Amino acid sequence: MKILPGWDKKKNPERGVIRKRWHGRVTCALVFPEPYGVGMANLGLQTLYSLLNASENILAERFFSPKEKGPLGQAAQWLSEESRRPLRDFDLILFSLSFESSYIGVLKAIVDAGITLRSIERGCAEPVVLAGGVATFINPEPIAPFVDAFLLGEFEGIAPVFLDFLPRLLDRSEKRRDRLAAMAQSVPGTYVPGLYHPIFDSSGCFISWDREDDLPAPVPVVKAPEGLTDVPHTAILSPHAAFPEMFCVELVRGCGRGCRFCAAGFVYRPPRMWPMDAIRKTLKDAPDSCPIGLVGLEYMGRPGVEELCESLLGDGRRLAFSSLRVDELTPAFTRLLKRSGAKTATVAPEAGSEGLRRTLNKHLREEGILRGVETLAQAGIPNVKLYFMLGLPGEEDEDAEEIARLVGRIRETLAFRGKGRGRVSRVSVSVSIFVPKPWTPFQWAPFADVKVLKGRIVQLKRAIGRLPGITLSIESQRDALRQAVIARGDRRLAPVLEAVAVKEISFHRAVIENGLSSEMFIRKRDPLDAFPWEIVGHPVRRGYLLAEWNRALSGEETPFCDTTVCKRCGACGGHRTETGPWTKISQNSPR
Ligand code: SF4
Repeated sequence: MKILPGWDKKKNPERGVIRKRWHGRVTCALVFPEPYGVGMANLGLQTLYSLLNASENILAERFFSPKEKGPLGQAAQWLSEESRRPLRDFDLILFSLSFESSYIGVLKAIVDAGITLRSIERGCAEPVVLAGGVATFINPEPIAPFVDAFLLGEFEGIAPVFLDFLPRLLDRSEKRRDRLAAMAQSVPGTYVPGLYHPIFDSSGCFISWDREDDLPAPVPVVKAPEGLTDVPHTAILSPHAAFPEMFCVELVRGCGRGCRFCAAGFVYRPPRMWPMDAIRKTLKDAPDSCPIGLVGLEYMGRPGVEELCESLLGDGRRLAFSSLRVDELTPAFTRLLKRSGAKTATVAPEAGSEGLRRTLNKHLREEGILRGVETLAQAGIPNVKLYFMLGLPGEEDEDAEEIARLVGRIRETLAFRGKGRGRVSRVSVSVSIFVPKPWTPFQWAPFADVKVLKGRIVQLKRAIGRLPGITLSIESQRDALRQAVIARGDRRLAPVLEAVAVKEISFHRAVIENGLSSEMFIRKRDPLDAFPWEIVGHPVRRGYLLAEWNRALSGEETPFCDTTVCKRCGACGGHRTETGPWTKISQNSPR
């Protein structure tokens, strides 16, 4: 991204915005149905914006959830950031979805724009409604009836064929259904839900699919191709983004650690690192005044990362890190953190007991956590934010106490180190409720029993309350339950989402009014159960996930990815080769 000279910060605080003339171009509304600050911090959205606008014939403008309703209770106005035009004016609406919680926003945007809500009833002259992003390739089904086509996978891989196909997709002389069917046949990663019909048995369990026109089932997700040199990075800098004016760059895609609760870790397999020379070249575009955010699920200790940080800090840049492995913190890396101005480090043990961390495949021992915290304190980073989960598979009442016990030990370690330096440390604890996600080994696990969870929350509050100076925040159980239902939902949830978006009733009431129950979606699954989200074709094999589920139940850990030799999950050695611009992550890489 080049920042144009003569930029006037007062008139327009955003830098890097692309404004094109409308005449003669395909117009694409790029919608991130969350508040502006959240959307602008999303590297996926920023990459999509750059990739679409890189094409001379396409104009892409951003939309975020409006702050307020319209005057006199009218529908909220969804207006583009660039030209302030409404959604309806665009040829194409492309939703970028990172979280299942954004699904209700999809419906709101369509309804508020006055566009026909259900794909099957949409008229020929109405915009084509597409959706992509990680939430859709984990489970697109709850919003399937509202979307004309999903683009499943990494957009770098989809873009070339998709952009070539656009004139036909928008050719209104042909029937809408025929255009979509042709797209499903021609553009890899396209899933047109109207051409697939889920079959449920009499008890409401999903069994399989009926499909039209000899279409693929499952629809294979597309990965970014080899040979790319454009490392994803922030295209538009904004003081109102969640990370104000931060220039973010992706170092690594995917993660090879195999944490069993993490859907991103499985759907982005194999783990890949961008080559260091391409990263350095991208960073040359970062304006001097902006902090640099290094993005990726795991990059600490990877070849060249420490040297990169050294040289950026040497150039006077400020750095922010998206991932830290506390047990692998070396004194050298900790000094880098300190030099980059960090006062607080985030540490995610996820569970208090060693046994539960084994179930999660965290590969994180208590001594490693304490050693890491001590290293941080020694380097002058006195505060930690700790992340835990409640409601995990195999969790017992004692595990709530175990969290408090571990927090206590971390606090003591920090207090001991801080005393010598006359400093008081702050420890904050954030607890989320575990949601079993599709495409993880825990897709067979139930969401925790609500009463049991309540009891454990009380127990944890009491135990943490005995420790002085700890700040505790716990996610709402109700929110987590809603997330769990949508995460493993299917098309039966469509009227529920519609009632929430249109009638504005509560999610749980809408579930009941539509003759459903949360239990249908959050219950434990049998090994042979078919899943509606398996319409998405990920390279990770079901048998591998099931074996990992069994290993979790018996508390066995699985080693990290080593993409140079391993073929065990199905993501390596298939459609990809071992060469290319990505450096695949190996366990043997120096850490
Ligand atoms: S095949 Fe092995 S190295 Fe490749 S993603 Fe799967 S587990 Fe990781």
